[in-house]
Amino acid sequence: MKKYDLLIIGGGVSGCACAYIASKLGLKTALVEKNNYLGGLATGGLVVPVMKSETSGINTEFFSDLVLNAKKYNAQIEYSDGNKGWFNPNILKIVLDDMLSKNNVDIFFETYPTSVSKSENLVKGIELSSNMLSLYIEAKYYLDSTGDSKIFQLLSEDFFENDEKKQPSSLRFIMSGVDIKKLKNFLIKIDKNKDVTNYCKINGEIHLTSAYTWDDKGWNLAPIFNNALKNGDLEPHDTSYFQIFTVAGAVGSIAFNCPRLPDYAQNDPLDYSKKIIEGRKAIYRISLFMKKYFEGFENAYISQIADMTGVRESNKIMAVKQLTYNDLFCEKPPKNPILSGTYPIDVHSNEKNSSKLLKTGKYYMEISSLKSKNYSNLYAAGRNLGADKLAHSALRTQLSCMSMGEAVAREIFLQFEK
Ligand SMILES: Cc1cc2nc3c(=O)[nH]c(=O)nc-3n(C[C@H](O)[C@H](O)[C@H](O)COP(=O)(O)OP(=O)(O)OC[C@H]3O[C@@H](n4cnc5c(N)ncnc54)[C@H](O)[C@@H]3O)c2cc1C
Repeated sequence: MKKYDLLIIGGGVSGCACAYIASKLGLKTALVEKNNYLGGLATGGLVVPVMKSETSGINTEFFSDLVLNAKKYNAQIEYSDGNKGWFNPNILKIVLDDMLSKNNVDIFFETYPTSVSKSENLVKGIELSSNMLSLYIEAKYYLDSTGDSKIFQLLSEDFFENDEKKQPSSLRFIMSGVDIKKLKNFLIKIDKNKDVTNYCKINGEIHLTSAYTWDDKGWNLAPIFNNALKNGDLEPHDTSYFQIFTVAGAVGSIAFNCPRLPDYAQNDPLDYSKKIIEGRKAIYRISLFMKKYFEGFENAYISQIADMTGVRESNKIMAVKQLTYNDLFCEKPPKNPILSGTYPIDVHSNEKNSSKLLKTGKYYMEISSLKSKNYSNLYAAGRNLGADKLAHSALRTQLSCMSMGEAVAREIFLQFEK
């Protein structure tokens, strides 16, 4: 039987941050991931770029090291607004392999937990299954960074606001073969709102972003979408949300933050799967729409469809202290903040004019929002944090997820020091 100081289940950015920092601090660390790569939504979900947030430098060592390492692989740019988190989602898999392997993290790919053994208020060990064998691992501490709280599910724990409607998921994709200069000229002719459509030149290459939604907010790209609807080239739901970005180190590629999947019945895997099929059909429609209506896309093609569904919100743990909407306006740092941020409340909705994007103050989080209420050696980090819906919607972006993972590593290290 293998024994570790820390066993992490889930290798998205929160799990990677925790593994990287814990190992650096000298903890014997294992990371279990059901895919054959690291990064979770940031790689397999094609979620680029990292959204900007003012972190006050709290628990940002992993992000800084990620930027430095990705730069070496030509997999990162700094956008003109100072955001250093424009990564290449494919190369990031290699960067993360490299960073964690060099730090001696034991990585178990294509492995997932099947049961958890416990004793009173402690997790004792986790039974894992891979394509080769089953194995049982014990550790002093555990992190559930699966996004969906898989370990908490196996422990039959309750979840916060479990019956409430969750934010819609999306299935992201990339088109390549785009003439970016032509696209840039086309977009800036139509959309003069630089908060929505803007571009910059980095190392001689044009990078850009643009957006549209079906909410009544005076989007300058609206005539294009309305025209496509009138001509039957798009279906109404295809127009609910549209956001595009160029990709670092991938000349001529555009990453799409869409289509949103239609709502699926909670706890109905069959309905969920049907909505993923609808998502892929929507990707095909949107790709034809781009080629017909957007200059620069004439020779473009779908080069990648995310192999991880973009789940924004699922099981939020019951923490020692649930982070709430009010905490986002507190401004005053608590005694031991483990994270700071300014990314706004960002709740997607599949109903027209119901999405929320609300500015907050500078907010903070304490480790108690990542600690299991019932198990003293079990933590969560990332998008399954212990928060209410609105606080979660601000904290689920990648920079915060990385800080959460890093904070858990440091907290556990302190326990060993005592
Ligand atoms: C459509 C969409 C768009 C977004 N846009 C942005 C954006 O532009 N910028 C931004 O900063 N953030 C964005 N976000 C939010 C952000 O990407 C995620 O919240 C964040 O990446 C989550 O990181 P995580 O580590 O918590 O979880 P994940 O990235 O979901 O990682 C969880 C990991 O656990 C693994 N796992 C799950 N179950 C098991 C299991 N049973 N056994 C083993 N492993 C398991 C998964 O394979 C995965 O690797 C977006 C999210 C979505 C869905």
